[in-house]
Amino acid sequence: MRNAGSHAAVKVARVFGIPVFVHASWLVIFFLVAWTLATGYFPERHPDLSRTAYWARGLVTSLLFFVSILLHELGHSIVALRSGIAIRSITLFIFGGVARLEKDPPDGRTELRMAAAGPAVSLVLAGLFLGAGMLARPGGTVWAVAHYLALINVVVAVFNLVPAFPLDGGRLLRGALWKSMGKARATRVAARAGTLFAYFLMASGVLSVPKPISVYGCFPASGAPTLASVLVEPGTCRLNVVCCAVYET
Ligand SMILES: [Zn+2]
Repeated sequence: MRNAGSHAAVKVARVFGIPVFVHASWLVIFFLVAWTLATGYFPERHPDLSRTAYWARGLVTSLLFFVSILLHELGHSIVALRSGIAIRSITLFIFGGVARLEKDPPDGRTELRMAAAGPAVSLVLAGLFLGAGMLARPGGTVWAVAHYLALINVVVAVFNLVPAFPLDGGRLLRGALWKSMGKARATRVAARAGTLFAYFLMASGVLSVPKPISVYGCFPASGAPTLASVLVEPGTCRLNVVCCAVYET
């Protein structure tokens, strides 16, 4: 996604001085998430509503999900800015979000702080949505939206904490090994874990066929080819979206 900030993406905002782009491919995942919610999650909880009502809920919830992804990326970005690393852009695309840094962090400690910030934001958001759900009328619309967003933010945090470079967990692994091994070797170890996880994702996608929609992409980030996958199952309450929030140099 090296061209994510160019012709295929539209600038939608500027936050803390960082230009925020939406890539054309994001529309696909935005509507897929809205669709699974409008045809599965909401009808299951509220069987008596109109199709328009399901779609309205689905679109709003999908939008809030991607606002959550944006906040996750801002978490990484703000820590990076505080460490003196400029952020070129944040882009939402089919696999989630990507914050592009001017340069690599200078040491393992900075890497650890930057990598941890994104999942920390997702977990805080999950807590806030859970709290909002508890305040809402049980079984109502706000309750259903808040519970979905709490769950999906936990999923985003947990998936990104898998120690597979360049996912956040892989960055944490590299940051932890940096001091004892040196940057180059720590990167190789974390990248190898990333490649193994990519094969695992690929195999799990292949083995769980038929999936109605299964999108795979391979994008280079810091020299480590990594695979992210998006699996969407319509007509069921089980939404299985894997979002890969990474940052590349
Ligand atoms: Zn992240």
